[in-house]
Amino acid sequence: MHLVTYMRLSVTDRCNERCAYCLPHDVTVEWLPKGQILTYEEILRVARVATSLGVTKFRITGGEPLVRKNVADLISELNKLAGVTDIGLSTNATLLAPLADKLRAAGVRRVNISLDTLNPDRYHELTGTGRLSDCLAGIDAALATGLQPKLNCVLMKGKNDAELLDLIEFAAGKRLPLRFIEMMPLSTSEVLTDENFLSIAHARQLIARRYDLTPADVKLGNGPAVYYQVNGLPIHLGFIGAMTNLHFCESCNKVRLTADGKLRPCLGSHLEYDLKPVLRAADSTDAQLREVFLQTLHNKPAEHEFRANYVPGRKMVAIGG
Ligand code: SAM
Repeated sequence: MHLVTYMRLSVTDRCNERCAYCLPHDVTVEWLPKGQILTYEEILRVARVATSLGVTKFRITGGEPLVRKNVADLISELNKLAGVTDIGLSTNATLLAPLADKLRAAGVRRVNISLDTLNPDRYHELTGTGRLSDCLAGIDAALATGLQPKLNCVLMKGKNDAELLDLIEFAAGKRLPLRFIEMMPLSTSEVLTDENFLSIAHARQLIARRYDLTPADVKLGNGPAVYYQVNGLPIHLGFIGAMTNLHFCESCNKVRLTADGKLRPCLGSHLEYDLKPVLRAADSTDAQLREVFLQTLHNKPAEHEFRANYVPGRKMVAIGG
């Protein structure tokens, strides 16, 4: 059985962007009614139960976590829980600049920032709505505030494969780790077609045209990235090969809480356990929540199902990345 010590808490299914691999453009967005989204008190209660079962690290995500009001208040309460050693945040950073100080003060230690392109027009096209300048301002604010940013780039054939070297140079200029992520068929299986899918092995070949990559024995954060040193540059590059790395799931230590209260033991499996009926029942006890948790952990799949004709269900935006 996997030892689960890391929990991703999705605080909203809403996003101010519409990246095609997360929220396909041809899908009508149906945000969950507000009443179906867990309140901060409910999320904290789940987090408290999680810590009693050995979870020590949390990551706040979504949708876009910064679209939810007062998310820093949730984080400072989370930070007070006994046993919590690390709180991270995943964000597209377009709303980060004015919030960075507050988030740092609330207890966020590190932020993962999505950056798939450095071309303003392509950024707008890929995100549906976003402005690259807002994201870059968010990155600078995160750096200035000591939020230890890492950059995440989803690999997209024909969309950003010609930019990998530029992204590396940008990351090196800011001295930030950069991770390349293989597309997963979370929201649409279109991402796996020959025209769209770019493997980490192929990305490494493209990068090797300019840089030597040497495997590095480092672990930055709590994720499944495999890191390399880049000759001549002061940064590490990470590769997250969810589709092509056959050992990808071996060290998985994660469980997810969706914004509507489902515990999800594996991103690449439709298995979910609903905590909301317990959370919202009169007189429910933490022991009952713990039961659901233990059932979830007990049934955590040994590996994801993405390579087994996985049919996308809920969109990534609603699962929580
Ligand atoms: N909105 C936040 C953000 O942009 O980081 C948090 C949620 S987002 C779903 C978390 C991460 O998942 C981002 O780095 C995003 O690029 C990545 N992601 C979304 N859909 C994906 C997919 N189909 N395959 C691989 N990564 C994906």
